[in-house]
Amino acid sequence: MGFDKFGRKSFTNMTKTAKFVDLLAEGKVEGTVCKQCGAKYFPPRADCAACLSKDMDWFEMPKKGVLETYTTAMYAPFGFEKDAPYTMGLVDFGNDLKLFARLDKALKQEEVKIGMEVSVRPITYDDGQLSFEIIKA
Ligand SMILES: [Zn+2]
Repeated sequence: MGFDKFGRKSFTNMTKTAKFVDLLAEGKVEGTVCKQCGAKYFPPRADCAACLSKDMDWFEMPKKGVLETYTTAMYAPFGFEKDAPYTMGLVDFGNDLKLFARLDKALKQEEVKIGMEVSVRPITYDDGQLSFEIIKA
């Protein structure tokens, strides 16, 4: 599966980390980990930025993180116009591992709090595009 299957609007279809989209289809949200130095990356990277190794493996993102911050987009950029308003958040999983994604649309604005425990799950939009989103843990 190519990266053209990823997200509300994909701007690329070939990357060295295209397996990410296959993993989403299997129900897994995974990042990459360097086999040489152990550095973890999300979004996944094909090469380690710490030691420059190309020897990378996949790992499943932790089940629990903390919502570090969030914002709601009332106006959306090109390709996302029909989705606004939507809320995006930054999740801290510890050890410098962070994830940026939209929040589950079912979450009410008053339920969203900085510091709340959250998780991440794969989603399939109604047009078949794959992505991942932040959910309440
Ligand atoms: Zn490394």
